[in-house]
Amino acid sequence: MRGALAAAQQAEIVAFARSQVEAQIADDRLDPAAVGRGIGDQIGLACRVSPFHGSRRLGVARALRFDLPGVRDLLACGRISEEIAATVVSETRDLDAARRRRVDEQICAAGITELSARRAAAVVARLAYEADRAAYVARGRTARKDRRVGLRPAPDTMSVLSGLLPVEQGVACLAALRKHTDAVVAAGDTRTRDQIMADTLVERVTGQAHAEDVDVEVGIVLPVDALVDPDGAAADVTGHGPIPARIAHDILDNTKGRRWWRRLFATPTGGLVGADPRRRCFDGVLAHLIRVRDGGRCRDPFCDAPIRHLDHIHPYRAGGPTSLGNGRGVCVRGNHVRELPGWRVELVHDGRGRHPHTVRTTTPTGHSYVSRAGPN
Ligand SMILES: [Zn+2]
Repeated sequence: MRGALAAAQQAEIVAFARSQVEAQIADDRLDPAAVGRGIGDQIGLACRVSPFHGSRRLGVARALRFDLPGVRDLLACGRISEEIAATVVSETRDLDAARRRRVDEQICAAGITELSARRAAAVVARLAYEADRAAYVARGRTARKDRRVGLRPAPDTMSVLSGLLPVEQGVACLAALRKHTDAVVAAGDTRTRDQIMADTLVERVTGQAHAEDVDVEVGIVLPVDALVDPDGAAADVTGHGPIPARIAHDILDNTKGRRWWRRLFATPTGGLVGADPRRRCFDGVLAHLIRVRDGGRCRDPFCDAPIRHLDHIHPYRAGGPTSLGNGRGVCVRGNHVRELPGWRVELVHDGRGRHPHTVRTTTPTGHSYVSRAGPN
């Protein structure tokens, strides 16, 4: 049933994308080179996922619809999972349409419906490789350009730091941590191996002598109530999310880092910062406050990408002030999409008084979505 629903949703996504492209072509305000932009973003909003995942869903739906009909049918009648269908799309993404269709037939003939997810993925990878070996190898080389590092929150005030690395570098990192751990354990260190490896990772990346002496500026926002009752409220680590105020106090008290953690108190008073609202750019304390208020994350609904730009909600060119209320943090993509015809971004609450800072985004189809600053 899930497969049938997925197939139905994909048909809907393809139909929506087609209607949007037609509308964009008919709209002479849009630069022809920009046709197709913003569609993945709208799908993301409607599905409550990030623009990145919205675009990916569109890519999967299109490929299954036009180039992989056999796999699409298997999905629609529930004989393979959505994950396998997505794997087929991803593994065959660089093949031309004819080769992709041939692989589609081979996959159906290979009986992948009887295999575990892992073995099915291996069969798909092998068929994709055999369809165009040179391209597959070239892709392995270009994938290296996508190396990156990310951070996401984990339960219990922990976080997961990840690195997408060329395989030999990833293996080398782990081997280096293990080797160092062996030496330290042999010298009588009483920490567990996992603890030593984690501490060593932090120490080598930051250059600190001890992992806990965090020496870079990290924003911790403490609600004013926490001054009176440290056990009562949640604090917020910029770029991460909420932590109990008691733990925030522990970190602030215990770190021997040379630089202070920046403590900011969340009382949206407004008016004090951003001395000259006619300035063109957000900078200094004002820029810092916007980033902290927005938690270091793009304010587009469901996006969660790191902030790359500070955007005037009411555009500067249209007289919008450079102020805390009229500023919002967005990712690169969010900053461009709002400029497309038919998109509208408005300030609903400036964050003073009882309401959190609230921004409404309206898409070309008239759907609107609200983004509120802070943990709510
Ligand atoms: Zn974004």
